[in-house]
Amino acid sequence: MAANASVTPTPSTGAAAPSVSPTSGGSSGGSVKLSALSKKSAGAKEFVPSWNKGPAPAGAAAATATATATSVPVKSPPPPPQSTSAGAIAASSAVVVDPNAPAYAMDIECVAIGMGHNDRAVAQIAVVDSNERVVLNCYVKPEQKITSYLSALTNLSPEKLAQGVSLTDAVAAVRRVLPSNAVLVGQNILKDISWIGLVEGKDFSAMQDLGGLWRVWNAKYQNFSQFSLGHECKCLLGYGQPEPHDAVSDSIVSMRLYLLHKKLSAGPASGLAAAQQSLMAVQPEPSFASRNPTLDGVCMGYKKTCKCGQPFLF
Ligand SMILES: [Zn+2]
Repeated sequence: MAANASVTPTPSTGAAAPSVSPTSGGSSGGSVKLSALSKKSAGAKEFVPSWNKGPAPAGAAAATATATATSVPVKSPPPPPQSTSAGAIAASSAVVVDPNAPAYAMDIECVAIGMGHNDRAVAQIAVVDSNERVVLNCYVKPEQKITSYLSALTNLSPEKLAQGVSLTDAVAAVRRVLPSNAVLVGQNILKDISWIGLVEGKDFSAMQDLGGLWRVWNAKYQNFSQFSLGHECKCLLGYGQPEPHDAVSDSIVSMRLYLLHKKLSAGPASGLAAAQQSLMAVQPEPSFASRNPTLDGVCMGYKKTCKCGQPFLF
């Protein structure tokens, strides 16, 4: 049971897949920890994070002082926040999603099939429902030759993929567990959806990108700061993600972050504003790719040090 590597859709009446060990206890979105949230009330004026108090750079704000927080370029004047929090709330609520549609968090881990940062093949797909039940944890055996399992990042191994299924079978399994009105949730979820070719309006109804939901207006740079899943987990859920983490644990974190955002969005603005401030108050830790520009010789796609020359697609 433990090393169940093949497609393991959880029976509708069953419990979570056996090999799964959520990063902390709890069984529902209600278990989301709010302890890490700042108790500062909202209504905040111009919030300037401690790691962001230096002089603003001349010109574009692209090079913020963080490794994992990236600035989202804003083409035309952004929706200028009257107060920082209100602006960010408005921006992150722009996508209309049926509040009654069932949410599913999905995460995909890939192995390397070449030395460039785009040379990847799907190797694990996890889908978790809003009660943190693992409805799918599926290993995929790529057709291509694997150059690295990127184990330090993905927690994947030859043993896990040995019982993997074909990508076609894996994607079919995803389609079986997802209702057509599913809202797919994840950090940069579009990338995962693109990996396996799901179709919006057919396989699912809408997607919610946590990076977009939890972005925060940065008054200093006049653009939005966006954060990694690890930073969001640490600041909003109150615990760090140990490395390596995998598709299941990342999906559970994603679901908790989504439900937290949904809950706070439905409450007083001060709640969401406090959460946003907690994201800005802590300096993001360097990303895995910045600490490991290459892994087993494979480019990890850190823009500042990438030498493989492949384009950055996402
Ligand atoms: Zn590269």
